[in-house]
Amino acid sequence: MRALVLSDVHSNIEALATALESAAAAGYDRTLALGDLVGYGPDPNETVDAVRALPGLMGVRGNHDRVASGLGDAGEFNHAARAAALWTRASLSPGGREFLAGLPQGPRHFTDGALLCHGSPLDEDQYLLDAGQARRCFAALPFALCFYGHTHLPGAFVLEGEHVHFEPAAGERTVLALQPGRRYLVNPGSVGQPRDRDPRCGFAIYDEAARTVTFHRVAYAAEETRRKILAAGLPSWLGDRLLLGA
Ligand code: ZN
Repeated sequence: MRALVLSDVHSNIEALATALESAAAAGYDRTLALGDLVGYGPDPNETVDAVRALPGLMGVRGNHDRVASGLGDAGEFNHAARAAALWTRASLSPGGREFLAGLPQGPRHFTDGALLCHGSPLDEDQYLLDAGQARRCFAALPFALCFYGHTHLPGAFVLEGEHVHFEPAAGERTVLALQPGRRYLVNPGSVGQPRDRDPRCGFAIYDEAARTVTFHRVAYAAEETRRKILAAGLPSWLGDRLLLGA
């Protein structure tokens, strides 16, 4: 199995199209979608349609999918996120809304001992940002590998013996070799709204046979996405931040 691992596309069809073109060149036969297909960006329906068509798709919902599909309220969102969530809710086609509402809450198994989730395997809304939080996940659940999103920061928490550390993935292509006896929480980064000061779209390819996760970053037409965000009347910061990767 070679799986394309996507997270936090956030209605950014330019970033998604670029990521898919690059992933197709790398080759994959399965797709793992870690949630937040929508929210923030200007193309929710195009994004949902493109992801639905991907091979061997398994997905979980994110907090923005939950709110945009009407399953939750935007009470915990900041001003820009709330404005975009309500705009997305009003813009979604009935089919798109139904697809998002049907995405299950994580974690889900995609193979033996391997999970996908949105925030953390313990809480879909948790931002997994430090080693202590990662340690609690490793202690609570018996996975060897778990893909997560939500923070928009690519890299991996690695449990080696008793020690947990985070290995950030920076640069155009980073290969993480999965070692026997170690356990991993891996974030592929965000396709549609990177936040590590690198505006290029991020995704990963998991090669089960080779025991590797390869992180990719590819430049896309972020100015075009920003233009559409402004034209839709969404908060301007949602466009500006795409040029900064913030
Ligand atoms: Zn997100």
